[in-house]
Amino acid sequence: MPIITAARAYLVDLEVETVRTDAVQSFLKQETVFVEIDTDDGMTGTGYAYTIGTGGHAVLSMLRQHLLSQLPGRDSSHIENLWHTLFASTRATTVGAITSLALAAVDTALWDLKCKVAGAPLWQVAGGFRQAVPLYDTEGGWLHLTTDELVRGALASRDAGWGGLKLKVGKPNAREDKERLLAVRDAVGDRMDIMVDANQSMTAAEAIRRAHAFEDVDLFWLEEPLPADDVAGHVRLAASTSIPIAVGESLYSVGQFRDYLERGAAGIVQVDVARVGGITPWLKVAHLAEAFNVSICPHFLMELHVSLVAAVPNGRYVEHIPQLRAVTHGEMTIENGHALAPQTPGLGIDWDRDAVDNRRVL
Ligand code: MG
Repeated sequence: MPIITAARAYLVDLEVETVRTDAVQSFLKQETVFVEIDTDDGMTGTGYAYTIGTGGHAVLSMLRQHLLSQLPGRDSSHIENLWHTLFASTRATTVGAITSLALAAVDTALWDLKCKVAGAPLWQVAGGFRQAVPLYDTEGGWLHLTTDELVRGALASRDAGWGGLKLKVGKPNAREDKERLLAVRDAVGDRMDIMVDANQSMTAAEAIRRAHAFEDVDLFWLEEPLPADDVAGHVRLAASTSIPIAVGESLYSVGQFRDYLERGAAGIVQVDVARVGGITPWLKVAHLAEAFNVSICPHFLMELHVSLVAAVPNGRYVEHIPQLRAVTHGEMTIENGHALAPQTPGLGIDWDRDAVDNRRVL
């Protein structure tokens, strides 16, 4: 029964590894909020959450001023109890992004400890479905790239053996979006999955129009076509098109996923382990989606999601978008377009402590 003796949080800024722009924003830097939890048997669990450039200080403040002081003296293996205790103590600001991200940093640290105590890797402790998971590529599809650059990136992804690639959409003119998609489809052939992402930039009416225009590109999914709180719009869109609608990166609770699934508004679930509040709620969303016969293709954070997608039977794809190479040792193992879940006990992220410390801002 490992008892928590101390818990601390700090903020690290990571430069983006690739210039990333979409229909509504640019990824400026990864604000990475770390939590470390020590136990009386001499172990330390390390967890983290992130933002793409704003709000990191608020997450850190929530942890330091309110959440972490509740941990010492508690049993680190009582993860459900700890999660709900912390959640209940922030009732006035939940459900919300800042609290979910703060909870995720604590929850992932507790799961790191749980796996280390078990002497087993996360993909096994969280479920243990398979070790290798398919990858798709995101880095060649940003909205600021020219059509020629998109095609070059797509061919590189295909030649690397990856099963799919993602392109941003949301150009002012629908025809320009479609021409970019068709150029890539023509280049890679009909065997490769092509996903598109609109980053919540459209109205329901416009998304229905563009989805209709995109039908003959044979898309694997259309991601975040509408603002995430427009569930009714997603219902109308999903009913109007054969293209699966993917949502999840902007949802912050299990209940928000339930709303989409029970109304048939999501064909792919992209639950993000940081934004939903950690591994504990992530697994609930994955199992909920399984009950609706819906696949999981999580957003970002491939270093954690490789193990989680490997843990559940309805994991379909991991997004290849490396962002921790400056602060970790080694690289994710990739074979034949598949990522291999790490086998080391814990979350499977080998932090470079000096590199992390050098980038601390608070
Ligand atoms: Mg997206």
